[in-house]
Amino acid sequence: MIPVTSFAGKRVAVFGLGGSGLASAQALLAGGADVIAFDDNADSVAKAVQAGIATADLRTVDWSNVAALLLAPGVPLTHPEPHWSVGLAKAAGAEVIGDVELFCRERRRLAPNSPFVAITGTNGKSTTTALIHHLLKSAGRPAELGGNIGTAVLTLSPPRPDLAHVIECSSYQIDLAPTLDPRIGVLINVSEDHLDRHGTLAHYAAVKERLVAGVPRNGAAVIGIDDEWCRAAAGRIERKGGNVIRISVRQKMTEGVFYDDGEIMRAAGDDSWPLASLDAIGSLRGLHNAQNAACAAAAAMALGLDEAAIQAGLRSFPGLAHRMEQVGRKGAVLFVNDSKATNADSAAQALGCFSDIFWIAGGKPKTGGIAPLAGFFPRIRKAYLIGEAAADFARTLEGKADAEIVGTLEKAVEAAARDAEASGLKEPVVLLSPACASFDQYRNFEIRGDRFRELVKALPGLTPP
Ligand code: ADP
Repeated sequence: MIPVTSFAGKRVAVFGLGGSGLASAQALLAGGADVIAFDDNADSVAKAVQAGIATADLRTVDWSNVAALLLAPGVPLTHPEPHWSVGLAKAAGAEVIGDVELFCRERRRLAPNSPFVAITGTNGKSTTTALIHHLLKSAGRPAELGGNIGTAVLTLSPPRPDLAHVIECSSYQIDLAPTLDPRIGVLINVSEDHLDRHGTLAHYAAVKERLVAGVPRNGAAVIGIDDEWCRAAAGRIERKGGNVIRISVRQKMTEGVFYDDGEIMRAAGDDSWPLASLDAIGSLRGLHNAQNAACAAAAAMALGLDEAAIQAGLRSFPGLAHRMEQVGRKGAVLFVNDSKATNADSAAQALGCFSDIFWIAGGKPKTGGIAPLAGFFPRIRKAYLIGEAAADFARTLEGKADAEIVGTLEKAVEAAARDAEASGLKEPVVLLSPACASFDQYRNFEIRGDRFRELVKALPGLTPP
């Protein structure tokens, strides 16, 4: 745990008592703050009480002596409207911050030059974060992983000069970290998502940009410039004297890091040379993963890893569960769990990676359905449709790809495995990439993906991928 000393002797209100909120309350207490915590959910309040944290309904407390409101990242700060606790804090002149901000303040006190890497982007955050962590670890550097990827940042080891903290930041967490100053900031991409929470795309992009704008002069801002928002951000930061490493998977460049035909290339002063190859790395298939890998390689390079270490780390990256996770093979058939693909955009990334697909899709539909995926339909040998979206998806596929409404994941795996095996194709792929949320049949995408893995592993004759 990282004891938070910046509020020693002061009163801090904590709202939102999930994992990171509880950890924040405990870290603040350990650092000598006077903590008072609350949540709209009575069970969460009971858990905090059990953990020895003082709780009270923040609607009824005296805010005049509250120095800060520590907000959990799931609680709305601005959109669709500020949570009531934010209104009370602002009226009392208390600052509203999150756990990443507390971490930054502690780091500035303990080890201001430590290799703190912060990662954001609309897509690819977890993959890039895990990959940077893996590259550092496999090169023998001390590194810890946390933030939005799951482990609350304040539960990690305290900052010290040699220890890399590799922290995934959602835009919510950036919003709550006004002095975010990673040594290496990584902004992978910006596209339309989460607008419910941020209002406009311009505001959302500006929040994300803050993560790289806060990088000090001796650090590096790694920015994927394949979308206009990030391209503009890179220009602005450079004009202010920042050290920007531009990343592209769509164009060759004379400066920065780009991806070309299986190779991650480094370019400087009109010269370019290979930094690493992604050839035959199954955990990093697809152009989207090339973007993640190029960002991760650039971050590792900025931290002093050489080409051999980066290449070795990329090769041994196991990948993340539920994101193009290769579960196994049965004869020629490859089984891939991409349960994290909860919208059409994400499913497009997976469909783009294979040419003979036995596609398991459906669940709780998102607006727009799978119509935007029409360009990939020729790759689909057959679709197995499940959940609420099944009938709608079947209509979209009609006349364009063979499809069957099977209803459940169990039936889908059975039928897809049988058809793929009988197809005689060279590398048929049974792909769960639902383009839907899971809530109609599963509590979350992880449980859906776990069930898929379990069903696949139970198939007779399955071998490792
Ligand atoms: P995040 O943490 O930002 O949600 P993940 O690394 O968990 O991202 O990847 C989730 C899904 O998003 C992947 O399964 C893939 O479909 C898609 N994805 C990953 N990286 C990218 C990228 N760089 N660009 C576009 N889509 C991506």
